[in-house]
Amino acid sequence: MLDFPGRTACIVWLAGCNMRCGYCHNPQIVLGKGTIPTNAVLAFLQRRRGLLDGVVLSGGEATAWPGLIGLATQVKALGFAIKLDTNGLRPDVVEQLLARGLVDYIALDYKAPPHRFAAVTGTKAYRRFSRTLDLLCAQNAVPFEARTTIHDALMDEADIVTIASDLHNRGYRGDYTLQPAITGRDRPTLGALPPQTKEWDLAGLQAQSPVRLQIRQP
Ligand code: SF4
Repeated sequence: MLDFPGRTACIVWLAGCNMRCGYCHNPQIVLGKGTIPTNAVLAFLQRRRGLLDGVVLSGGEATAWPGLIGLATQVKALGFAIKLDTNGLRPDVVEQLLARGLVDYIALDYKAPPHRFAAVTGTKAYRRFSRTLDLLCAQNAVPFEARTTIHDALMDEADIVTIASDLHNRGYRGDYTLQPAITGRDRPTLGALPPQTKEWDLAGLQAQSPVRLQIRQP
């Protein structure tokens, strides 16, 4: 009820990821090989036709999985709407999904501004992310939301304002969602980040942001 706006949906977490974010709380998905075969996922969905109307393809990074287009085609054929959660590193895959009408909603993680991107994500692929963002801003067919997971050991207010300004400059007019990362001893993460202590000042950030901010508590 929460993950796909306007839909009652299930989530399929696809194993593997092309980033290594320190705050990632799904190390078993990022580093694992997956445990459920595609035909079992499709059988699950077949039994839920009429009960669910949406499927969220998430991960890990769904676009890094070579079978994504095939799975999305089969999920669509069963009559479900599809939401894609993506970190934006595969603009080619996002483009194919859009061109084939295989996606109905996209949540794009804007991980960090260019100067922080490698430190936050473990990759130097900001330009590929940037192509995905431009692609999504240039199309009107599919709604998308931009969001950032924030941790005070990795980013500060100036970084958030830099991202918000970049979104606005590229034509994004939706809400920009901030999700405070949860780290701590009882929450395994990919990296060894300290627990987050900061209370982010949403009102202060909003005053500097050209797009509307939302805080989504995890
Ligand atoms: S938080 Fe980072 S490492 Fe974890 S699944 Fe998302 S993109 Fe991959």
